[in-house]
Order: sequence, then structure tokens, then C-alpha cells
Amino acid sequence: ATYQFAGKTILITGGAGDIGKATAHRFAANGAAIALLDLNEPKMADVAGELKGYNVPVGTFGCDVTASDDVAKAFTGAVKQFGRIDYVFNNAGYQGVFAKTDEYPEDDFQKVIDINVVGVFYILKAAAQQLRDAGGGAIVNMASYAGVVGPPNMLAYAASKFAVIGITQTAAKDLAPYGIRVNALSPALIGPGFMWTRQTELQAAVGSQYFDADPKVVEQQMINSIPMRRLGSLEEVANGVAFLMSEEASYITGFNLEVTGG
Ligand code: NAD
Repeated sequence: ATYQFAGKTILITGGAGDIGKATAHRFAANGAAIALLDLNEPKMADVAGELKGYNVPVGTFGCDVTASDDVAKAFTGAVKQFGRIDYVFNNAGYQGVFAKTDEYPEDDFQKVIDINVVGVFYILKAAAQQLRDAGGGAIVNMASYAGVVGPPNMLAYAASKFAVIGITQTAAKDLAPYGIRVNALSPALIGPGFMWTRQTELQAAVGSQYFDADPKVVEQQMINSIPMRRLGSLEEVANGVAFLMSEEASYITGFNLEVTGG
């Protein structure tokens, strides 16, 4: 734990999920106050409970990122509790179903875009307004390596994460005059965790030429595709977020940091 965030507040969307939780632990350990936003309120309450040991202020805000009024309410609540927000980790996301392009369901395509693109926009806009009014700050948008190279059977997810990287480049330009840095983070294969288990099972079930029908074999196929021959940990993702938010990254904006093991 190298960076110090004492006196700073980070707002984390998807704060009940694997990466949001690991990032909350990382920032709390380095002294930041934590505002968690998530749709899943019971799981978010568990994460808040885990953070008690760090003796930093923690707030939880039930919020559907696809509803702009919910987002506005959550930001108002967070600013009321913490005074100001310094960092926003725009991280809530949904992987979508796994299906070939000719069979990809229309309703799920829309759902992925609603959460991963429209939701990211609502959070980004609210964050831009808050950080502008507070005199500056930093935003990290959660993209994915699927937003750099489209993986098989993940049409909507790839579309949404390519969009997040584009949004990041434009927002970085638009918000630079306010002293707000905006970067993206693109993990590839991270685990153990919910998304890792889900993707090995669902890639196996698609029956494509790219993966075996046995999820255990798919795990090995995926790991063999990584130059470093191992999954990245949740903490290694959180380390990337900490770097991009920190003063060490003070001249870095509009960048997509790949956390992929090569
Ligand atoms: P996760 O499923 O554990 O966490 C996602 C969280 O987002 C959940 O707590 C969920 O309740 C919340 N969420 C979903 N829809 C929401 C909505 N409409 N409003 C509010 N909250 C909502 O997954 P994770 O692995 O922690 O993923 C976090 C982010 O990282 C996602 O954007 C994901 O696409 C991205 N990502 C993950 C991996 C990985 O391997 N885990 C790799 C690359 C990118």
C-alpha cells in the first residue's frame, strides 16, 4: 500500500461486487472515506461492515445506475455525508449472456448497453459536475480488455467496453479544463470471482470452436492464452485504480490502463 488517500473520498459504483469491494478495501486501508453505490443493498451492507476496521467514514447508497434520478440522489447523499468527492470509480457492470452473433438476444444486448454505457454516462456526468464544483479530481471508468480486442460470444459486452474507452477519451478532453483527470482500466482475466466462474461456465456452454465444453478445460484454455500464465487478482486491479487516482498519475488522462498479464 503505497499511495496515501487520507482526507480524500472515493465513490465506488458496483461497490458490492468483487472489484468494487477489493478497491474499497484498498482505498480504506490508505485512509480514504468510502461511498459505496450498488443495486444490491444487502451485499453492499456486508462490504460496509467489512470496512469498519479501517476507521474511515463509510456510506452506502442504493442506486440503479441506469436511472438518472437514482444517480442524482446518490450523489446528493454522498456529498451531504462527506462534504466533497475527490475520486469516482465508475465500475458497476454486467457481462451479458454468452451467445454467437447470429443468436445474440436483442433484449440482453439492450440491457448490457443500458448498464455499461448509459449507466457509465449517468455516473460520469454526475461525477463531472461534482468534481468540477469541488475544484478537480479523478475518475476511472471500468472498461475491459474486451473493449480492446473483441472476444468470441460477447458481442454486447465488447460493444459496451469499446464505448467506455471512447467515452473516456472524450471526457478526458472535456474535463481537463476543470482539473479532472479521466482514465479507463481494462482488466482481462481476473479471479477467483463471480465473473471468472460465470464466463468459464457460459463459454463452455455456447459450443463454439474457441472453447471446450468442459468449464475446467475452458479455465486452462483461458489461462494458457495469458503470457504470464495466471489470472490477475482483484488486488492487482485495485492497484491499477489506486495508481490512476493518485498524484503519481497527475499528468495521465484519457489513458486506458491494461491490467492483463501481457
Ligand atoms: P461483479 O458482478 O462482482 O460486480 C458488479 C457489481 O455491479 C455488482 O455488485 C452489481 O450489483 C452491480 N450492478 C450491476 N448492475 C447495476 C446497476 N444497474 N446499478 C448499480 N449497480 C449495478 O463483477 P466485478 O468483477 O466486480 O466487475 C466490476 C466491473 O469490472 C464491471 O464493469 C466489469 O465489466 C469489469 N470487469 C471485470 C472483469 C473480471 O474479470 N472480473 C474483467 C474486466 C472488466
